Amino acid sequence: MNILVTNDDGITAPALYGLRESLKELGRVFIVAPDRDQSATSHSLTLNRPMRIDRPEPDVYAIDGTPTDCVLVSTHGLLPFKPDLVVSGVNRGPNMGDDVFYSGTVAAAIEGAFQGLPALAISLVVSGVADFTYACAFARSLVDTMVERGLPPKSVLNVNVPNRPAAEIKGVKVTKLGMRVYEDSLIERVDPRGRNYYWIGGDAPIWQPEPGSDFLAVDEGYVSVTPLHLDLTDNALRTRLEEWRLKP
Ligand code: MN
Repeated sequence: MNILVTNDDGITAPALYGLRESLKELGRVFIVAPDRDQSATSHSLTLNRPMRIDRPEPDVYAIDGTPTDCVLVSTHGLLPFKPDLVVSGVNRGPNMGDDVFYSGTVAAAIEGAFQGLPALAISLVVSGVADFTYACAFARSLVDTMVERGLPPKSVLNVNVPNRPAAEIKGVKVTKLGMRVYEDSLIERVDPRGRNYYWIGGDAPIWQPEPGSDFLAVDEGYVSVTPLHLDLTDNALRTRLEEWRLKP
C-alpha cells in the first residue's frame, strides 16, 4: 500500500514525520507537503504561476503550493506509484465544526476523495505545547480499520484528537460538525507610511456545546471522528426551491 501523507502546516511540521513513523508498518509512505504554512487556504489551487517541487530526501517532496496542489500532483504523476490512501495532518490546532470550510488540512483529504481515494484528515486540538504521539498512533489504527471496512465514494473522515497522553483518552466518538459562535474581528492599523492595513483577528473560537458534536466529544476527552459527505446539495431546500417557480 502506498500512503500519501500531507498537511497544511508545511514540510517542517514534526507531525508529518511522526505520521510517517506510525504508518510505515502499513506501507510505503510518501510525504508531499507545502513548503511553508498554508493553514486556512481551504481548497485553493495554484493555477496562475508555475510550481516548484523540492525533494529534500527520498519520498519527501516540498511544493510551493497549497495542500490541494500537493494531493493533485501526487495523484497525477509526481510519485512513482499512485497513492492508495491520503492522510492529511496531524494539524496543529483543531478543525471542527464550521472551520472545516477554511481548513487546508480537511481540503487535502477532500481532494484525495475527489481523486477516488479513501482519505482522512486528523488534527490535534491544541494551542500551546503539542504532543502528537497519541494522534499518530490513532491515525495508524484508524487507517487499518478504514482500509478493512472501506469508505463510500465522496466521503472523508475528519478526526480531532484531544491533546492528552494515551492513558487520558476516554475513547472514540463518532460525531457531527459542531456550531461555532463567530467572534472574528477586523483590526485596522496604520503602517509607517500612513496607509491603513488590516488583520482578521478575534479570540479563540467559542462553540455551542451541542450533544453529538465534535467539539463536545473533544472537550470531554474523546477522539472525535466526523464523517463528511462532499455533496453539498441541500435536498430539503431543493424541494422548497421548486415551489418558488423561478421565472427565466
Ligand atoms: Mn494548519
